[in-house]
Amino acid sequence: MTPPTARVLGELSPPHVTARDIAHAVRALRLHSPASATPGAPCRRDWAAHPCLLYRWGQRVLAAHGLTEPQIALLAAGADLDGGAR
Ligand SMILES: [Zn+2]
Repeated sequence: MTPPTARVLGELSPPHVTARDIAHAVRALRLHSPASATPGAPCRRDWAAHPCLLYRWGQRVLAAHGLTEPQIALLAAGADLDGGAR
């Protein structure tokens, strides 16, 4: 069965990205990170297989804003948008 959030959000890519979208995307990546460093660990928030729907959404929003995969991974790990450690 498809989770309710998947029915609402689907796999749509955002048409444009605002500063607010970026803040939400970074928050989504941090909240929906893997529950542990063990390979195959599920999402810590909703226990779906990682990367879960909201994590993938966050990745797409940041990619649409022009961030690279390594930059997105740093943000997910807790770095600030200006590159500094948290
Ligand atoms: Zn999740």
